Amino acid sequence: MANIVAIVGRPNVGKSTLFNRLVEQRMAITDNESGVTRDRHYGESVWTEKYFTVIDTGGYVVGSEDTFEGAIRDQVAMALDEATVVLFVVDTMTGLIDLDNDFANVLRRSKKPIIVVANKAETFERQSLVAPEFYSLGMGEVFPISSTDGSGTGELLDEVVKHF
Ligand code: GDP
Ligand code: MG
Repeated sequence: MANIVAIVGRPNVGKSTLFNRLVEQRMAITDNESGVTRDRHYGESVWTEKYFTVIDTGGYVVGSEDTFEGAIRDQVAMALDEATVVLFVVDTMTGLIDLDNDFANVLRRSKKPIIVVANKAETFERQSLVAPEFYSLGMGEVFPISSTDGSGTGELLDEVVKHF
């Protein structure tokens, strides 16, 4: 069975940036061959000889404020349905906000493995002082990464492939 890694989280935490980093190499090849656009939501990746599909769920969020709960549910339901592992991305520049808790509340009901990814942690402060705040979610180990400079993504992927 194919391994599927779904990236979920509220807008602007860096889901698409992480997606692009994870599928970087394959995307480059595909782009050369067929000129596909950059805004697709599925990509292929490999880590330590383990192949997997990455889904950027951001594009699935639709709706206005009063259906936001529903939009979260849709995004998360899709991810939980298809995923082998879920990456729950949060943002060390903003810290934990209510909307993160809304996502967490839905995710906690799932039996799928969920990995908390504390993104934008390229500074010492965000990595060592802000990222640990996300342990308060009670969702296990927090992985500080920077999707823009790539730091921490190796440790994250080592953890991801343990679930395949
Ligand atoms: P999404 O809405 O969750 O898909 O978030 P995006 O990937 O579109 O990123 C939102 C903003 O955060 C953009 O301006 C990104 O450049 C920025 N961003 C994403 N990842 C990082 C990171 O690791 N560090 C910093 N400093 N900014 C980031
Ligand atoms: Mg996005």
